[in-house]
Amino acid sequence: MKGAGDGTARVTRFAPSPTGPLHIGHAFSALVAWERAQAGCFLLRIEDIDRTRCRPEFETAIFKDLRWLGLAWPEPVMRQSERMGAYAAALDQLAGLGVLYPCGCRRADIRAALSAPQEGAAVIGPDGLVYPGTCRGRSMESVGPQDALRLDMGRALALAGMAEFMETGADFTGVHRLDPDWMQAQVGDVVLARRNLGTSYHLSVVVDDAAQGITEVVRGADLFAATFIHVLLQRLLDLPGPRYHHHRLIRDDTGKRLAKRDDARAIALYRAEGASPADIRALVTLPSGS
Ligand code: GLU
Repeated sequence: MKGAGDGTARVTRFAPSPTGPLHIGHAFSALVAWERAQAGCFLLRIEDIDRTRCRPEFETAIFKDLRWLGLAWPEPVMRQSERMGAYAAALDQLAGLGVLYPCGCRRADIRAALSAPQEGAAVIGPDGLVYPGTCRGRSMESVGPQDALRLDMGRALALAGMAEFMETGADFTGVHRLDPDWMQAQVGDVVLARRNLGTSYHLSVVVDDAAQGITEVVRGADLFAATFIHVLLQRLLDLPGPRYHHHRLIRDDTGKRLAKRDDARAIALYRAEGASPADIRALVTLPSGS
């Protein structure tokens, strides 16, 4: 196992959601995170906030496949479903800054508001449809059990000031600065606590990367745009900003990105057909043996 690090060593992580089997794209992501940890520490985190989609048997299978690939990690593994208190504390902190508001809009309400003639074409950003701001005037005192909590992007940007992050992935190498105009137009007031869930992907990932002391976030290029949201939240919550490494996505023979649900690419199937961990590395063009 890679050592616990001496405070200066790299700490990377692999953060799967146990909603299906580990497939070749996940294996690639885990292997890149493992190799980029070098002599530092590779951590695992189970992202299971959406209890309706996560299954314990998938979690067990993911552990098994990762071990088979030759990876190891310190126990106990962080599990997001056990971290609701930390997410609630972060939401309190943001509410204290005056950057949250409750929102009772359903997807259909948002679509209807966006289709009003004065709105122009709806924008789909890294967090889906850009919210038209219908509930932005609501105070946190009016929050009801069926409400989500949204970030007031305008206020958040004004409060955070200049923010940037360092990217080491080949497609986006360099320093990236948050552009307030882009954030307002392309991201908008993102949901930070989903209805009936008490948190969201964006909030949990930021709180947990800090709690685990991650120094380099390794994940797929599809999450690059979401990083701007994460860096903004780090600034607001006064959390350290890790470096980022967004790796290329594994594509099939026709160049199509592999869907998360493409079970034909499950590691367990390759294994059942007699593939070795070295074969998997070769398949994703990682040098074997490292
Ligand atoms: N849980 C996310 C996924 O399985 C990964 C999130 C991240 O690496 O930030 O896609």
